[in-house]
Formats: sequence, structure tokens, C-alpha cells
Amino acid sequence: MYLVGAGPGDPGLLTVRGLRLLEKASVVVFDYLANPQLLRHCPSAETIYVGKQASQHAMSQEEINQTLVRLAREGHQVVRLKGGDPFVFGRGGEECEALREAGINFEVVPGVTAAIAGPAYAGIPVTHREMNSSFTLVTGHEKEGDYQDPSVSASATKLDWGALAKLPCIAFYMGVKALPTICKRLIENGMDRAMPAACIQWGTTPRQRTVVGTIADLAEKVASAKLGPPAITIVGKVVSLREAISWFETRPLFGQTIIVTRTRQQASDLSEKLEELGARVIEAPTIELSPPADWDKVDNALMKLGTYDWVVFTSYNGVILTKQRMVVALGLDGRAFGSARIAAVGEMTANAIWMHLNLRVDLSPTSFVAETLGEELIKRNEVKGKKFLLLRADIARAVLREKLQEAGAAEVADVAVYESKAAASLPPLVGEALKEGQVNWVTFTSSSTAKNFVKLLGKNYLEKLARVKIASIGPITTATLKELGLPPTVSAESVNIEGLVAAIKGNRMQSSKGNS
Ligand code: SAH
Repeated sequence: MYLVGAGPGDPGLLTVRGLRLLEKASVVVFDYLANPQLLRHCPSAETIYVGKQASQHAMSQEEINQTLVRLAREGHQVVRLKGGDPFVFGRGGEECEALREAGINFEVVPGVTAAIAGPAYAGIPVTHREMNSSFTLVTGHEKEGDYQDPSVSASATKLDWGALAKLPCIAFYMGVKALPTICKRLIENGMDRAMPAACIQWGTTPRQRTVVGTIADLAEKVASAKLGPPAITIVGKVVSLREAISWFETRPLFGQTIIVTRTRQQASDLSEKLEELGARVIEAPTIELSPPADWDKVDNALMKLGTYDWVVFTSYNGVILTKQRMVVALGLDGRAFGSARIAAVGEMTANAIWMHLNLRVDLSPTSFVAETLGEELIKRNEVKGKKFLLLRADIARAVLREKLQEAGAAEVADVAVYESKAAASLPPLVGEALKEGQVNWVTFTSSSTAKNFVKLLGKNYLEKLARVKIASIGPITTATLKELGLPPTVSAESVNIEGLVAAIKGNRMQSSKGNS
């Protein structure tokens, strides 16, 4: 049995030990405040939600303890995943007591606690040499969060306000509803009314919101900003450092929610880059890739790779699947390419050829589109009498093949190394976020994802996307989007992921300038 701290919200703040254990777990018992995105690390584990949220009590503490004991006795590899640190206002101590009593061994993996991480992401260091030499964690012990339990005796959690009012820096957990009382008590007991204070909701996540004031006015400001749990309140001079240190909330895409449409298998490079700029990303896989129904055509072509003058890849997935087939099924290696030259459409494709096949690309048009490649080959006098192999998706457009044939190629073998079909449905979060008006952008990196996304949204897709900005990776995708009635707000200048990110960032910076 492993009690693992999930960290405060940002899934990147899980410890390495925690990650290893999650990957090996057969059952994961998790809370409301443990970010469900972490469950990606244990796709085959059974997951049990025992969350506690102010009014909905999924399971009592006693039931949770019993569940843990039962699962351990059944021989499962159990990870008990708890928000923040398991021992900081998380009742981890009680769970350990129950396990010990039942004779079950356990390990505790500490986590990054909200009182340190929330302020850090708000630009507030919890200690500073010139401001405080102590930092105190306090529970506002109102009924919220996973500490909620009416059975906790009042005396066990009774606070000494006289002592607290003298402290230079205090973090209050579970203290949003009680904030007026907390501030009032501190002032009554002699703390300076001008003492800086901040309240941070959903710290370290893209939903983070921070309200800053003094202990005299924070409660009112928090109420008018409608901040609610989970939130950390920090009281102390260090709060004033936020003006200079704030870094997370000042990221260019902070506060923006972006739907990233993509194929299920594609690396989420784009999502990662957008998240690094502060955006909240919702992934919407719209296409599923599957092996071709018949491998014969592919295998025949791959077995005589070296006889072609040019081998052309038009997609990232084409490269990956070609490699798999070549190496795993046919037992070939890089020598099979012989003296054939390599062409790629798109930078991602070219990168994949280098990374996965260790081949240098001889020709890679700067533009994403297949036409440019055909023209470039013709210009170089590389088409007439030459043999071409195109390794592509089944839905690839015919234009490149036709162009090469018209220009007198001796042979153009157009082979589908994978088939793609539309996903059956979108993740529920996509629809919910759209309905609630949370979505600022949708990104499209190909025509087929655009068509499939629209199909999955249903007939009234224009209505659903009415207030959403559209970002397109390049001219072909843009043309498709226009046909669908979704003219893009921005289109990437250089046709790659970096270009797409830069276009969104540019638009965002312009509009925030306009607002100020
Ligand atoms: N064990 C957890 C605390 C659980 S008590 C930890 O170490 O962080 C629940 C309280 O934690 C919430 O009411 C809130 O005060 C705080 N909290 C947890 N996650 C938070 C977050 N992302 N942002 C702000 N406060 C958070």
C-alpha cells in the first residue's frame, strides 16, 4: 500500500517515486483534489473515486479506511493518491493508523503541498530573508475539501488567535468561507490591518485565480471576485513580492482554454507547447489510425525500396508506421533504402525521418503542401523517367501522384501505410467546455481533423463554435475550414507546430494590447 501525494494540481508536480508507483499500480484510490489527469499514468489500473467535495460525500473516512484494508488484503498493488501532501490536512495519518492496525505494510510518498505551491505559482515566496523567518500552516477547518469531517472534535482544532496574530506568515487551508472570520480574528488580536494577504484558487492549474489585498479588505475582494474552494489564503509581507515575481499568470496564453484536435496516436507536442505558455488544453482526438486492411502492397514496395529513385513521406504517421513494418515485420533495416533519395512534406515529417529512420532528407519543401514538392522535383529535373514511391495515408490527396505522372515519371507507386477513420465520439469534456463558453480557441493541423471534428460536434456545429477562435496550420487546412464555414482567425506563417503556436500567441498579445 502506497500513500502518494499527488501534488497541488499541476500534473507535472508529482514526484518521480509517485510516478513509478502509479505506473505499477493495479488499483488507484483517488480524491477530489488529486488531478484526474494523473490517471493517464495507470491506464490499466482499476480506479476508485472516494472524493470529498463540500456537499457531496463520496465515502466516509471510515469507509475509505476499510476499502484500503480490503484492497490490500486482496493482494492488489494499491496507490492511495491524495491531493498535495498526504500528511498535510489530508488525513493520511489516520489512514496509516488504520493500515497499521490491520497489519498492512505501507509507504508514504510526500507531495508538494498547496500552501507552498499555490503561492509559488502566484509569484509569492513563502519565506524571504528580509520578511519572515517562520511560515505556519493552519486549517480554517470549515467544511470543505478533503478535511471535511464533522466528527473532528472542536478542541483538537481550536486555534490560538492571539498567537497567530503575531506570526509573520501564515497559510490557511480550507479557509474561503471562513475568510471574513479569519481576517477579523487576526485584526482583533492585534495584527496590522495593512498586512498584505492573498487568496489563490485552483493554484498551479490553468484555472488559477489570485486576489490580493490586506487583511482588512481581502474577504470583501474575494467575495466580489467570487473565489471559492479549493483556495489557499496567505497572510504576510511576502505577498507584496508578487508584483515583481509573478510568472505563471503572466504567461502569454494564461487563462485561455484551447481545444487541440488531433489523431489519437499523434504525439501531443502541440498541447505541451500551449501548456508551457499557460493555456489550458483539452485534447480532442478525431481520427484513429489503423493498419491497412491488406499489407501485400506495402510489403512489396518496402521489399524493393532500394529500386526507387525517390521515396516520399507526406506525414509523421507515415514515417512511424513504415518503420514499424520494415523493422518488426519484414526484418529490414536502413540499408533497404539503398541509394533512393528521400523527400518529405512538412517539417514534422522531416524530423521524424531523421529521428526514427536516421536518414537525412534530400528534399523538404518549406511549405507543407504536396504540390510544392511536385513542382520542386520538376524544377530540379528529377521527375522524367524516375521511379517514385509515395508512402502515405489512405486518404491522401491524389494531386502529387498526378503531377508526377504528368511530368513523365517512369513509375509512381502510391501506397497507403495506414488507414484513418473518424473517432466514434469526442471526450465529454470537449462538449461541456464548449457549452459553458469556456473555450477560446480550437486548433486544426489537417483538413481531415477539421472535417471529422465538425462531424463529431453535430449539425449545429457553427452555433457551438460561434464565439470560438479558430487556428489553422496552413493553406490547405484553411481552405477546408472556410468551406466548412469556419474561416480561421489565424493561420500559421510557417506551416508547422511552432508556426501555429506563434500565430495564436501573436493574436493573443495583440488583443490584450487592445484591451489595455
Ligand atoms: N493535502 C493537501 C491539502 C488538503 S486540504 C495538500 O497538502 O495540499 C484541502 C485544502 O487544500 C483546500 O481547501 C485548499 O485550501 C487547499 N488546496 C488544495 N489544492 C489546492 C489548489 N490547487 N489551490 C489552492 N488550494 C488548494
